[in-house]
Amino acid sequence: MTEETHAVIILFGGSGDLARRKLYPAMFGLFRRGQLCQHFAVIGTARRPWSDAYYREIVSAAVEDEPGATAGQVAAFASHFYYQSHDVTDAAHYTTLKDLAAKLDDQYAVGGNRLYYMAMAPSFFATIATHLKSEALLTSTGFNRLVIEKPFGHDYASAKELNDSITATFDEHQIYRIDHYLGKEMVQAILALRFANPLFKAVWNKDYIQDIQITLAEAVGVEERAGYYEGAGALRDMVQNHIMQLVAYLTMAEPAAKTAAAIHEVKSAAFEALHVYTPAEAAANFVRGQYAAATINGTRINGYREETGVAADSLTDTFVAGKLGVDSPSFAGVPIYVRTGKRLRRKSTQVTVTFKPTTSGLFAGAAPTNLTLYLEPHQGYSLFINGKQLGTTTALMPEELKYRHDPHAAANAPEAYERLIGSALAGDETDFTRWQEVAAAWHFVDAIAAGWADDPTMPTYPAGSMGPSEAFELLAKDGHQWFWQPTHIRLAD
Ligand code: NAD
Repeated sequence: MTEETHAVIILFGGSGDLARRKLYPAMFGLFRRGQLCQHFAVIGTARRPWSDAYYREIVSAAVEDEPGATAGQVAAFASHFYYQSHDVTDAAHYTTLKDLAAKLDDQYAVGGNRLYYMAMAPSFFATIATHLKSEALLTSTGFNRLVIEKPFGHDYASAKELNDSITATFDEHQIYRIDHYLGKEMVQAILALRFANPLFKAVWNKDYIQDIQITLAEAVGVEERAGYYEGAGALRDMVQNHIMQLVAYLTMAEPAAKTAAAIHEVKSAAFEALHVYTPAEAAANFVRGQYAAATINGTRINGYREETGVAADSLTDTFVAGKLGVDSPSFAGVPIYVRTGKRLRRKSTQVTVTFKPTTSGLFAGAAPTNLTLYLEPHQGYSLFINGKQLGTTTALMPEELKYRHDPHAAANAPEAYERLIGSALAGDETDFTRWQEVAAAWHFVDAIAAGWADDPTMPTYPAGSMGPSEAFELLAKDGHQWFWQPTHIRLAD
């Protein structure tokens, strides 16, 4: 039985895309599971002058198509929502917000618990945090927690500046930095896979692992996000956060307990062990690319530089592939190959761990064993082993031991944002990123960006391919190849 959380949630960016597509459905999930029940209210803020009634219509529209939602549930849920027109740069508006929060605190008997959720352009995060302190919105009873969306800075210097401004109001344990990958089922499953199975636990190190590959492939292009993406690119948008978190989960030591503190301790150590490249090393180990126009099944797909809002001479990376290393005793020397990009052949996030092949004995030279974790769109594992061919032969054949979560059951499990908001309300910091992790990831990424800074060349790849030829050469020069090489194009995902 889920324990009910009492809280007033103050949402900055209540009219935004993230709020409608992710946050309201997530809160509705928590409402239906009972974690949000009677004692909660949500104050949505944005600049537009909306009424509560209109805001409730927006919230209702965002959740009414959730599977199994009844009109009664939707109405009951929406009745907890209040709207406050608010310009985050205007100090006087915080006083109005404070009064409304205090009134709702009494009305719903929440005991002073507050969750401040920043779902706005990152340029406003520092302004909001500063005003929350100067206008004294934080309560002296109950909890005060800040949930902050990505991107957390643009490089180490801007991330540090942002962190300094929010830590002037909130201490580290009150800050819940979102990386929604940490709310995903199969990312959370890595701990069980690695540490509940002696079979894997015993061989999860440099003596047995040949290489690790992480692919976060998107089939879509930049869509309507060029304004943001032009200033970010794949390295900052995907590698700095999601891929780095996956690397940490895959290489960290076993935590001493299933607690946030113990998990963050080993995760931070994994981040600290990341080998930060010199510019020359970065240039040799990381490649970037940009998608070019292609005609697929008779339909012409725009190249990145033709997309609305993109400069005709843009040097923004829509693809990154690289090799990184971890200087820890268990993983030193194990290549970790990562790639991510837009307009790739198919949407999929997957991780493959390739174990070293046997080099002696009966089957010296047999193919390596591979373990693949499928994160999305399917969820599950495949272990590719050497089996024996049927019949009177000792010849080997590759066999796949396969498990997939039932798609129906997976669809009914809480979505990443629901888990994360539920955790923030419950005060569980496990699946949020600590400042140390963010800082280490930026140090790593800044070194790669610096390696590219003076290079005007931008390799291209046709939309619907798996990236530029440089991404394949990167592995070929080590005698390796990408494990996942999809043949069918599915750009519609
Ligand atoms: P959005 O542009 O759709 O919404 C921004 C919100 O901020 C709106 O409600 C707008 O009214 C409000 N706003 C803007 N200026 C304001 C001001 N001066 N005072 C008060 N309110 C103001 O943005 P979004 O896509 O919802 O993204 C919000 C945050 O979430 C960003 O940090 C983004 O990087 C992050 N994020 C979004 C997504 C997504 O899928 N949309 C995914 C991951 C992270």
